[in-house]
Amino acid sequence: MGRRRKRRVKRQRTVRKPGRYFQCPVCNSMTLTIDFRKAGKPGVKIAVVRCGSCGLYCEREVPEMYERVDVYNIISDLAYEGRIEEECRHEEEGAGEPEVEESEV
Ligand SMILES: [Zn+2]
Repeated sequence: MGRRRKRRVKRQRTVRKPGRYFQCPVCNSMTLTIDFRKAGKPGVKIAVVRCGSCGLYCEREVPEMYERVDVYNIISDLAYEGRIEEECRHEEEGAGEPEVEESEV
């Protein structure tokens, strides 16, 4: 019985878990999520970074080909440089609403 043995090719696949959660660079919990949403212009999208633990919230315009990992790298860099507070904003109701003085005429 000349059964030919199939040569098993062990492919070293880099296990890339499409992890939903990232480690938050601020509070170190695995509760950081990164989502994308349309930016309304071509070539870019908006990355929305959120941490369910410390309430970190960040929206950034990124190139359209960016993946979550790329965004995560940006975020952890910012955190490392201590600039995350100025570059991102924490979730606030009505944040960014310009104060419009109602002019009563
Ligand atoms: Zn956090």
